[in-house]
Amino acid sequence: MGVVHQQSQRWIREGRYSVEVETGREVATAVYPYSNGVIDGKWLESGVPLEPDWALQDPQDYLRGFQTAISDVLEDSGIDPGDVIGIVHSHSPYATAFAAVNMPIPVYLTAQADEFGGPIPCGGFTLIGGEKIGKVVVKAIGDSPAVLLKNHGVFTVGPTAEDAVKAAVMVEDAARTTWLALQIGHPDVIADEDVARLHRRYQHVYGQR
Ligand SMILES: [Zn+2]
Repeated sequence: MGVVHQQSQRWIREGRYSVEVETGREVATAVYPYSNGVIDGKWLESGVPLEPDWALQDPQDYLRGFQTAISDVLEDSGIDPGDVIGIVHSHSPYATAFAAVNMPIPVYLTAQADEFGGPIPCGGFTLIGGEKIGKVVVKAIGDSPAVLLKNHGVFTVGPTAEDAVKAAVMVEDAARTTWLALQIGHPDVIADEDVARLHRRYQHVYGQR
């Protein structure tokens, strides 16, 4: 299994891509320095000065980053592109609020049981950069397609990028409704055996996977 991910570096001046396998080990890295970096002086085309505190990025930098750095990293690592799985990282606000207080999201909702088959775990704190973050994700995620990282945000995985994006959207949805429920009362956790039954039914009867 391979994972290709992009990390935005300080000031978002470059795309950095790496490949991690099972253990979270980095096996190859490529850097594509963004040609326009952070645009905080003037609009690219019109040259009109930007207001103070404005900072823009050129979307083409992302696309060029994908085109060059991902090809490089796949070539260096020797990983078959067919073995690459999808991974999404987000700071979506409700799920990230749970990460901020180091709280896994319990299964209060059948939709969460269906999709995730259990609580959404929360992994330990780690600084960005290097191999550590991959190791923390791998250790904490277990069989779940989603994990929160303490004081940071959300990581989701899937067989394809689309699956990983769907999981990220569902995590935020579950976190939001859970937060709302906690404002008005004390929701009951769904029993493990019922969570397992719901998950099985959703995965097999509905043919979602
Ligand atoms: Zn982040």
